[in-house]
Amino acid sequence: MSKKIHTILIANRGEIASRVIRTCRKMGIATVAVFSEADRHAPFVQDADMAVYIGESEPAKSYLDQDKLITAAKRTGAEAIHPGYGFLSENAGFARRCKEEGIIFIGPNPEAIEAMGSKSKAKALMEAHKVPVVPGYKGDDQSVETLVEEAQKIGYPLLLKATAGGGGKGMRIVGAASELEAGIAAAKREALSAFGDDELLIEKYIESGRHIEFQIFGDQHQNVIHLLERECTIQRRYQKVIEESPSPVLTEDLRTQMGQTAVNAAKALNYDNAGTVEFIFDDKTQAFYFLEVNTRLQVEHPVTEAITGLDLVQMQIESAQGKALSISQEEVQGKGYAIEARLYAEDPANDFVPVTGKIHRFSAPKVEGLRVESAVESGSEISIYYDPMIAKIIMWGENRQAAHSRLGYVLDKLVCQGTTTNLSFLRHLLTNEDFLQGKYDTHFIDNKLDLKEISSLSAESEIELAVAVLMFRWAERQGRRKLLRNLPSGWRSNFYEAQKESYLIGEDEIALGYRMEGTNFHIQVGEQEIQCSLAAHSPESISLNINGLQRSYSIIQNGNDFFIHSQGIGNHKLTLKDRFPQKEKEKVKGGYVSPMPSQIVKVHVAEGANIKKGDPLLVLSSMKMESTLLAEEDGTLEEVFVSEGQNVEAGFLLLKIQEN
Ligand code: ADP
Ligand code: ADP
Ligand code: MG
Repeated sequence: MSKKIHTILIANRGEIASRVIRTCRKMGIATVAVFSEADRHAPFVQDADMAVYIGESEPAKSYLDQDKLITAAKRTGAEAIHPGYGFLSENAGFARRCKEEGIIFIGPNPEAIEAMGSKSKAKALMEAHKVPVVPGYKGDDQSVETLVEEAQKIGYPLLLKATAGGGGKGMRIVGAASELEAGIAAAKREALSAFGDDELLIEKYIESGRHIEFQIFGDQHQNVIHLLERECTIQRRYQKVIEESPSPVLTEDLRTQMGQTAVNAAKALNYDNAGTVEFIFDDKTQAFYFLEVNTRLQVEHPVTEAITGLDLVQMQIESAQGKALSISQEEVQGKGYAIEARLYAEDPANDFVPVTGKIHRFSAPKVEGLRVESAVESGSEISIYYDPMIAKIIMWGENRQAAHSRLGYVLDKLVCQGTTTNLSFLRHLLTNEDFLQGKYDTHFIDNKLDLKEISSLSAESEIELAVAVLMFRWAERQGRRKLLRNLPSGWRSNFYEAQKESYLIGEDEIALGYRMEGTNFHIQVGEQEIQCSLAAHSPESISLNINGLQRSYSIIQNGNDFFIHSQGIGNHKLTLKDRFPQKEKEKVKGGYVSPMPSQIVKVHVAEGANIKKGDPLLVLSSMKMESTLLAEEDGTLEEVFVSEGQNVEAGFLLLKIQEN
């Protein structure tokens, strides 16, 4: 009765493509990767047995192009498609199309996907099956009057959500009646531009909420079980950064109750394959409410694998082949504790905006219990086209504390050089007392952490890094000189006159003077004198003895930039200050520049238009995130330098307003 699969095409990219390939290999199944222009050299393409180029980098022209995917599957003889997460994974039309073409879609049946596609309809269905849902309005009447009237009934604070939403987009908290109408207008606008649908639902906002979800699993024979919970409360922009299991707040009773509710929800859907039932849990009342079902494999599935010992991708493939679940609810046992930290190319000090760039070096230490799912290798590019997730760092331990200690150690040792990341933020989180004690809600990042503080370095650390780079440069020069037969005249191995160098770290400038005596360096920084000697040097790293303490530094040079990692200080960039500094780019008065590399999604205004402060000017999209640029002053629009669809670099002048 089960259909044998010999070859699977993975309609996705990055770490999840590599993840699926690994299980296929274990099961003796051949794999086909598909890739876009931007992913030509990505690791997952090499991991697969075959690979098919499917088009340009914009998702719509490649990973979302159903025709190209189906053609690629047919050409390579793939009997099944694994959609990963994101992209087409929750697209009922695609699941149906696969079926029509005789290809197995590795995911739930299209009807189940469809039923969960609209948050309103999903809630209504759940309510009908006695699953508790957040009180609110989910009706078809979308007139502002009705929405306002319903909001009055629900009370404040409340949450406006796009019914077609996902990925935290199109959501808005409204604190008081006076903010409601503006909130509705903004949420509708955002929903329309992100999902092509401006339908909203309203929910009571759970203030000290925790996001607790249950992994569910079904087969095509009406069996459904749950694989315990994941706590995903640590979020920014309504999106997860840390996931763990077991949740520090669930009692065994609550776990049983919520797990059973999740299974009931799945049964209401006639669910098969992997899915996740998300709940919001009210710390104050211990009540839990259904949020949504994600009808796919979740980003954070390794947390569940780590504590249950199961391979969820293997279970997905078996379920799609028609096999019955080989494990009963009673046999599902969680062992120990697991935590996942998502490493993102984004800037915690600047509202977590995504950043692009090249990862010059990526390497993780080997530690027991560690699993790294990474989308990159040294030399990979983070482009504007896709999600900025670099890797998932998953740690298992006998208990929560043991796993936290080990994860902290791994994050200290992790080398990720080239672009700004959230690594220092993740590291900081693991030292936060409230986090360690499990005391947090979904606002934890916004309310409890000083993000500017986390990203800044102490003066002492800045000096240490500057010393390391200075020594590295010296050792590199020395190495080159040894290779030269004819030493340049004037070169001495001992010099008494101090040499000078300056480095920039962020806004700070570190000026150093150094003299060498025998094998010792005397380095002067301000009033401070540092004794330093070279212990070892390679083209990638240097070991130094600084004032009697020996440490290693991983260093990569790119022009005048030096990317450096030190276990105690993390990953940073230093720039050698040019002796002839570039003239600072002139700031254009009334000019608006792109805050990050982006694509222009919409231009709201035309030249000559009258602009009021707060008017939307442009919509920019970068790595799954859309942001609207608002006018900062009243004035007249003088010139627009971009058009819809155009890609721009960070700092690109977008438009200019003549102030009134
Ligand atoms: P969760 O993070 O709970 O799994 P989301 O709905 O936020 O669920 O998104 C799932 C994941 O799918 C994202 O974290 C992202 O990695 C991926 N994803 C979604 N849309 C895209 C896209 N357009 N391009 C690349 N990856 C995407
Ligand atoms: P998405 O499809 O974007 O994942 P969800 O409905 O799952 O949307 O909500 C995303 C996040 O927003 C949740 O994980 C939670 O942090 C927060 N959230 C959603 N609904 C509520 C609510 N009613 N009260 C408080 N927080 C909520
Ligand atoms: Mg969700």
